[in-house]
Order: sequence, then structure tokens, then C-alpha cells
Amino acid sequence: MSKLPEKANVVVVGGGVIGCSIAYHLAKLGWSDVVLLERQQLTSGTTWHAAGLIGQLRPSINMTKLARYTSELYHGLEAETAQATGYRQCGSISLATNNERFEELKRSASMARVFELPVNVLSPGEIAERYPLITTEDIVGGIHIPSDGYANAVDITQALAKGARNHGARIFQDTKVTDIHHDNSKVTGVGTREGDIDAKYVVICGGMWSRDLAASIGVTVPLHACEHYYVLFESVAGLDPELPVLRDYDACSYYKYDAGKLLVGAFEPNARPWGSGGIPEDFCFDEIAGNFEHFEPVLEDAMARMPALQDAGIQKFFCGPESFTPDVRYHLGQAPELKNCFVAAGLNSIGLQSAGGIGKVMAEWIRDGQPPVDLWEVDLRRNMPFQRNRKYLRERVSESLGLLYAPHWPYRQYTTSRGVRKSPLYDRLAAIGACHGEAFGWERPNWYAPEGVTPEYAYSYGRQNWFGFSAAEHKSVREGVGLFDQTSFAKFRLQGRNAMSVLNRVCANDIDVKPGRLVYTQWLNDNGGIETDLTVTRLAENAFLIVTSAETEIRDFHWLRQLIPSAAHCVLTNVTSGFGVLSIMGPRSRDLLQSLTPADMSGEAFPFATSQEIELGYAMVRASRITFVGELGWELYVPTEFMLGVYDEICAAGESFGLVHAGYHALNSLRIEKAYRHWGHDITDEDTPLEAGLGFAVKLDKSGGFIGREALLVQRETGVSKRLLQFRLQDPQPLLYRNEPIWRDGQLVGYIRSGAYGHSLGACIGLGYVNCEPGTDAGTCCEHRFEIEVAGMRIAADASLRPLYDPENKRIRC
Ligand SMILES: Cc1cc2nc3c(=O)[nH]c(=O)nc-3n(C[C@H](O)[C@H](O)[C@H](O)COP(=O)(O)OP(=O)(O)OC[C@H]3O[C@@H](n4cnc5c(N)ncnc54)[C@H](O)[C@@H]3O)c2cc1C
Repeated sequence: MSKLPEKANVVVVGGGVIGCSIAYHLAKLGWSDVVLLERQQLTSGTTWHAAGLIGQLRPSINMTKLARYTSELYHGLEAETAQATGYRQCGSISLATNNERFEELKRSASMARVFELPVNVLSPGEIAERYPLITTEDIVGGIHIPSDGYANAVDITQALAKGARNHGARIFQDTKVTDIHHDNSKVTGVGTREGDIDAKYVVICGGMWSRDLAASIGVTVPLHACEHYYVLFESVAGLDPELPVLRDYDACSYYKYDAGKLLVGAFEPNARPWGSGGIPEDFCFDEIAGNFEHFEPVLEDAMARMPALQDAGIQKFFCGPESFTPDVRYHLGQAPELKNCFVAAGLNSIGLQSAGGIGKVMAEWIRDGQPPVDLWEVDLRRNMPFQRNRKYLRERVSESLGLLYAPHWPYRQYTTSRGVRKSPLYDRLAAIGACHGEAFGWERPNWYAPEGVTPEYAYSYGRQNWFGFSAAEHKSVREGVGLFDQTSFAKFRLQGRNAMSVLNRVCANDIDVKPGRLVYTQWLNDNGGIETDLTVTRLAENAFLIVTSAETEIRDFHWLRQLIPSAAHCVLTNVTSGFGVLSIMGPRSRDLLQSLTPADMSGEAFPFATSQEIELGYAMVRASRITFVGELGWELYVPTEFMLGVYDEICAAGESFGLVHAGYHALNSLRIEKAYRHWGHDITDEDTPLEAGLGFAVKLDKSGGFIGREALLVQRETGVSKRLLQFRLQDPQPLLYRNEPIWRDGQLVGYIRSGAYGHSLGACIGLGYVNCEPGTDAGTCCEHRFEIEVAGMRIAADASLRPLYDPENKRIRC
């Protein structure tokens, strides 16, 4: 073996398909000194036993784009590297055996149109023609993707490794990374038994080993291995190499031609976690024993679907470990805890079909210091530190694996690892019928079941069982007063002599306001893209309260932390656990709160966007006059130990004001009517405030400037090429969720970022960007015929630049 270098630009840890793809793409970008270290042999972890399916349609637009790029890359890889890849575009068919599944598939087919991935919707007869080996009596329909296929995972990895070497990368096998070195703020290299390598960047692509390797340097990578099974059948009558890959989602199984045999694999419910006590040090091209009885029900269903299997022989029963993650989404990006430490791991059994896209975006992310496209759904920064707890992971991944093929119901909730983070009110709210949903470990009331109704979801693509209850909560907030428990908000305190100047450079709005004022603002990246969307309250001259969503707690905290200059007198503290939040919203909120506090809650004494400490019950509570529902209201920040007392007082007084409890589904339907943008959906790091219609919250001329200002100045000059619009379907029946294509005068011009039923506007409301000619008047954007496509049907829609609900903000500023 050649000698390890003492220095490298990038060290990639792990020689599976992911590590090899990242090394390939970095080298192809022209990066020199890319070194890949593999503890055993290339592919010897999970990659060698991948079944080889290369599918492209994923549950979201950006994930589908990555998978699509992978397919295109593999198409040309053999010609580029002269290394066989076994890549074959035989197409794929996905089956639906019930109408709900068929709707899901048709919605996916509609989404695929956004980026011109051809998808055909098939009848049972057409499926039988294309796949004569199966019984189709129970099939309702399906979809066919002609450009899907399969490949040999080992060969693809070797081709990527060869391509990487051809572009100058160096690969060392039998070289385990024993330590990752750092100086407490950034990585500085790695240690191996063969010597140390100083490196500017380290990329952890260690598959199921990644969690522990990352934990050794304080980086959170929540994943846990699970057993994953397939069976190879030989002598299958009628087997044809031209057969498409078949996915029978409702039987959680897939079928693939495999060198003269038929491979049947599964994503079964109640999977078996593996390796909780550690992964054997000598693991190399290993199989695990597995449990045939566990897999037997899948085989029985397979034999019913494909009768020829009953007479075929089982050549191999295979079980191998693969990493799964708590939300069945992989982990990409830079560790928030440690600069220049990147991670790509937790592939949830789609590593082969994702590797090309992952390699490309990771290489660009490392080069540019920021993701090339919105990758929030897989961004490492979404993870909470508690998620590397093994009990949590072990229980959750037993559910994760099966969710790959389970119906992707809107609002679907996990059933494992629940009750992790709770508001002090949890028991009180559960006792009055709260149906809690899980978000980032938090249990949050999504809707309230009236007496006699069990607070449980009955899922469908239509109106789910909670629709009417949530509608009633929505209307009560519009007409009276509602209470939301928003304790899960992330809360930070920034204080010190330089707190204002540091924070004002990060905020696009001006936060140099009088103490007691509250400012809605975005934080931007250098391109003007929106990194987050939050409120800042000036508590005192040198102290600020920053409130952001539960989802972005880690992302936002570290974004700000890294922007505090080392010489600045300024301390950032995460005070999330110190305060519960009760939001009292609706036209009667003032009367209710006034009955409980000696503070003057009138419009004159307590105007919109101000914040005061008030007495409430026995507590001193910070009341902030702000709203995410489009009504008069206050968010109350209550010290955690006072929450129960304050809540009880509000409920007792609330009876005479008709106070209702309202959940997160109502919060969502209320905010979307008012066209309040939700970060992660309607606004992301790819969208600027000018495109999103948030220019009012940007102070281009404030002294000292802010991050992203220069990009916005350029964009203001040239004009935006897309604009966020609010849509209201003309037909009150169909439901929007997200990713539905937007048609303008018969042309596809965008897709819905978020959708919900507007109970006051009487139809589904969606927010989405549409392409526009830079320089055209924004007002003309709406002067067209719009349609939104839902499961293949185009529904006429009205479009508006201004919120359809209360465009003048009269209900808020009273
Ligand atoms: C039965 C089965 C079927 C599958 N079928 C498909 C499929 O059809 N399509 C699909 O897309 N995906 C499939 N997958 C999933 C796919 O195989 C994985 O997602 C993918 O291989 C993961 O690649 P990786 O590079 O992240 O991990 P790995 O292949 O495990 O690579 C990680 C590497 O890192 C090395 N390493 C770890 N720690 C260190 C260290 N400290 N120093 C140096 N090296 C280290 C390991 O030795 C290992 O080689 C399947 C998986 C299974 C189990």
C-alpha cells in the first residue's frame, strides 16, 4: 500500500457508494488532494449487498431531482470510466391495490411533471400487459416510469472510485479512521493507525458506523441499523430480463430481475433493529442471520402476487444491515457543531439510487460553504441532540423501515418513540381531548377531539376525521378567542454590549428599536436566500429575545453563534426549556387577557409588535402582541414552572369569553389564509424576501448593512424571476398538500409549496412561486388563467399577491 499523505484538502471517511460518489464529484470539480479512507475494502459495509433498484420518484421535488441526476449519471458512467456498472433502464411499475394508494401514486405522477420526468398512469389491464407474471384482480391501477431501472451496486461504486482516481483522488483501503481532530471550532484532520492526516475538510460517510464516529467529536448523526431482507428465486417460469422493476407497495415488497433470477425484497412493518450493542470490529462483506419467520408473510404475499414463485426454488435468503433514521430522511451537510465537518449518512435503503445526487450536492456544498439547492428536508441541522439516544433510535427505526412503502398519508404521525419532549400542559391537554402530533421530539396538540370522540387519526387523502373539529377551532379563533400551546417554539437570548450590532448585521430588518418593541425579520445568506424567519424582541438596551420555530432550533442557534465575532461582547443562550408559550388569539383575546391582568391591554397602551412583562395569575409573564393567525392576539412567554398555574387561570376566566383550545392544524389553516409564509416550505434558503413578497421586512438602508444586502440590491435592480402567489381553488372540494403543479394559461409555471383548507375562505388555499419575466410589474402576475393540478386533474384557481384574508390588516392592528 502506498504511504498515507500527511496533508489533504478533504478526507472522505468510508468507501461505500456514498463516500466514493463524493470523492468522485469533488475530484471532478477540480479539487486536488482528495483522500478517501476505507477501514476494510470498498463496498464492504452495506453497499455490496444492495439489491440495485434505481428509482427516481421520491416524496418531494428536490429529492426526486437528486435521484433523477443519479440515474442520468449512472447512464453514462460505464462509458466514462470503462468500468461495467450493470445499469439497465428497464422501467418500473408501482402498484396500487386501493383507491387511496392510487391517489398517492397519481399525485406523485403530477409532481413528476414539474421537472418533466415521464410517468404513465396505468390501468390494471395495461399493468398485466407489461408484467404478465402477476395476478392483477385486486389491482386498482399503477404508474410506470420508463427511465427507472437497476444497477450493480459494487460495480457502480467501483466505477465511481475509478472515476475519482482518474481525476486525481487517492483511495486507501484497510485504513480505519480512529479519530477526527479539531480545534473546538473546526476540524483539522484525522488519525489512523497508519498515521495522521491534516485536512481542511472531513466528510463522514461511514454508513452505520457514522453515528458513533460523529458522536466522538460531539456531532449528532441520528441513525441505527436495521435488518433488511431479500430472497433470490431461481427457475422462475416466464422470467424475462426486460421486465420492469415492480413495487407492490401495499404488500411492502419489490421485485427485480437479477442475473437470471428474481429478487424479492421488502420494507415490512415492525423491522428488526440490529447492532444496538455495537457493530463487530471485523465486519466486512458480512451477512447477518436474520429471521426467516419474520420474512415469511412477505413471501406468502409474493407467491400470491406471482404464482410462478410457488414452483420456483429459493436460491438465497439474505439479510444485511442498513442504517435508518428517525424521519426516514438521510443526513447531509455541515455539522452545526463543528465547521468543515461534513456528513452524508443514514441512507434508509435508497443509498444507491441517491448516491449520484448526494455526491454532486455535497461536493458543491463543501466548495461553496452552503447547499446548492434547498436541502432542508435532509439537512443535518434538523436533528436534535437527544436524537442520538439509542433507546429512542432503536424504537423509532423499527418503524422507519416500513414507512418507505407504507402510505405517505398527509399528517401521518409516528407511533414509536413518543412522549419525548412535553409541554408542562401535556397531561391537561390530553385530558380534554388533544390529539398530539410529534414534531422534533415535541408532543404538540394538532387538534382536539370533542367529548365522545377518540383523539386518533383516521388517515386518507380526503378530509380526515379531524377536518370538521379543526374547522370549528379555526372559526372560533376568527370569531372569538382560542388558546394554542406553542411551548415548542425555540427561544434564544442574546445579550452583551455588542448584542445589538452583532444581531443587526444578521437580521434583514432593523432591530435597533426601542426596548419593548418586537421585530419580524429574516436572516439571509450571501445570495439573499432566506436562512430563517423569526421574531426578535428587544428586552433591554443590551438584551434580545429571539423566537423561532421548533424545527430550526439547532440550525438558527448555530447560524447566529458562528456569526458572533470572537472579540464581540455578546453571549447567546438557548432558553427554550425555560419558557412555555401560550398564544391567546382572536378578536376577544384582549377582553379575556384584560380580565386577568392589571396591565393596560388597550391598543394605545399595548400596540401591535410590542412586548411587555405583565402580571398574570401569580406569575410575571412576557406578553408579546404578534400573530401567526391573522387576528388580534398575544403570545405569552411563561416561565416553565408557572405554566400550569397561568393556564388554569386563563381557562377559568376563558369560560365566560367562549375560549376554545385550538391545535396546530388550525394554526396552519389560519396562517395560510393570511398568506403568512412558513419557513422550510414557502420560504427557504433558495428564495429571497423580494421573491417571497417580504420586502416590507427588509431595511436595505439601515446603517451597518446586513448579510445578503448586496444580493438583494442587485435583485432589486434586475427584477425577480419568480414570485410567491396565494391561490384559492374555485372548486371547494379538492385538497392541496404540497408539490401540486401550477399551470398558467396552460403552461407549467411552478408548484405549490404549502396548502391547507381555508375554512373562512371556503376552499383550499395554496402558496407557490410562479416564474415571471424580470422587470414586469408584480401586479400583472395574477392576470392570467391559473389551474392547480391535483392527482392528474386541473382545478381552476384564483391568484393573489396580497393575502386573500384581511389584506388591509384591519383585524390585527386594532
Ligand atoms: C438488503 C439491502 C438491499 C438494498 N437495496 C437497495 C436498492 O435496491 N437501492 C438502493 O438505492 N439502495 C439499496 N440498499 C441501500 C444501500 O445499500 C445503502 O443505502 C448504501 O449502500 C449506503 O452506502 P454508504 O456508503 O452510506 O454505506 P456503506 O456501504 O456501509 O459504506 C460505509 C463505509 O464506511 C466504512 N467505514 C466506517 N467507519 C469507518 C472508519 N472509521 N474509517 C474508515 N472507513 C470507515 C465502512 O467500512 C463502509 O465500507 C439496500 C440495502 C440493503 C441492506
